[in-house]
Amino acid sequence: MVNEKLPKTTAEFETELIEIRHLFHQFPELSNEEFQTTASIRKLLLEADIEILDLPLKTGLVAQVSGNKNGPVIAIRCDIDALPIQEQTQLSYKSVNDGIMHACGHDFHTTAVLGSAFLLKQNEECLAGTVKIIFQPAEESGRGSLHILETGVLEEVEAIFGLHNSPSLPLGALGTRSGPFYAAVDRFEIEIKGAGAHAATPEKGTDPIVIAAQIVSSLQTIVSRNISAFDQALISVTQLTCGNTWNVIPETAYLQGTVRTLKAETRKLILDRIRQLSSGIATAFNASAEISFSDGPSAVYNDSKWTDFAFNVAEASGFITEEIPPELIGEDFSDYQKHIPGVFVNIGTGTPYPLHHPKFTVDDNILLKTAHYFAILAEAALHELTTG
Ligand SMILES: [Zn+2]
Ligand SMILES: [Zn+2]
Repeated sequence: MVNEKLPKTTAEFETELIEIRHLFHQFPELSNEEFQTTASIRKLLLEADIEILDLPLKTGLVAQVSGNKNGPVIAIRCDIDALPIQEQTQLSYKSVNDGIMHACGHDFHTTAVLGSAFLLKQNEECLAGTVKIIFQPAEESGRGSLHILETGVLEEVEAIFGLHNSPSLPLGALGTRSGPFYAAVDRFEIEIKGAGAHAATPEKGTDPIVIAAQIVSSLQTIVSRNISAFDQALISVTQLTCGNTWNVIPETAYLQGTVRTLKAETRKLILDRIRQLSSGIATAFNASAEISFSDGPSAVYNDSKWTDFAFNVAEASGFITEEIPPELIGEDFSDYQKHIPGVFVNIGTGTPYPLHHPKFTVDDNILLKTAHYFAILAEAALHELTTG
């Protein structure tokens, strides 16, 4: 009874955070279905007397800690969703939700940022402004960033900070870079309409398989022939479906894949070339191609001032800092960066399996340090915005 009023020791706080993460890990939920996760976050925030903003969100939430209410506003963002993967770890707290796993470490992000919220709340009278703390749903699939942005909750936010754990960085390292950091992610689909025929009389049809093969080969010339060798881009055709037997030429072929780019102009050029090549080749073979793109998040682009700032705070917080090369994976953190300057950082966990692997783990030893880092970063950023 009395203990509740006493401030926690660092060791107690660390133990509490580790227990919270294990709980999130045990009950993972898919994108846009994070109901129990949201309820748990809400409960923990309310127990710490942290304000939760009233927003029309199905899952996820935004909390707020304010010192000087007339001061600047910044935001910290984490993601809370899991993946449709059957967990294959031997952890005592492994997922109990069949076929769903926190294989990207969003349980770690959620807990670290919750920890930052607790620390900021303890220190709220010293804050030069307001920190909005975003627990974003649906990062993996669903573009949860847009749900948050649509609420208008970030309109006054002047800087935004986000994180991802990185198994390939050593434990205790913080890596990021100024400028493009993660890629824009686009998906393309191409439906080729030819004309079916007996396999013995191809001259009576228009074979979509031959056309699809030409298109696949041609798409692989875009990066090598249309993009500067100093730029970075990638095209992968990941599905080619046509026909269902050995003696019939089918009528249609379907292919799809992904484009990853770091610059807006490269992205536009590649999408234009995919359209030109596919429809041009189909026309040349007397067929037609229907091409569609689903717009994914654009590239994560780190503001140079806030990147330097994040590195400086990291060094002062005992992290080893590392400027790391860009990656061609995607992150909808970029949606926030379209409106708000900010920086996305990687926290090294030095764990053996990559993101999205069924044996993926994070290292709890970096949880407390990450929570402290984001609390200090937020406090320092408010100070920086106040004093210029
Ligand atoms: Zn992921
Ligand atoms: Zn992730």
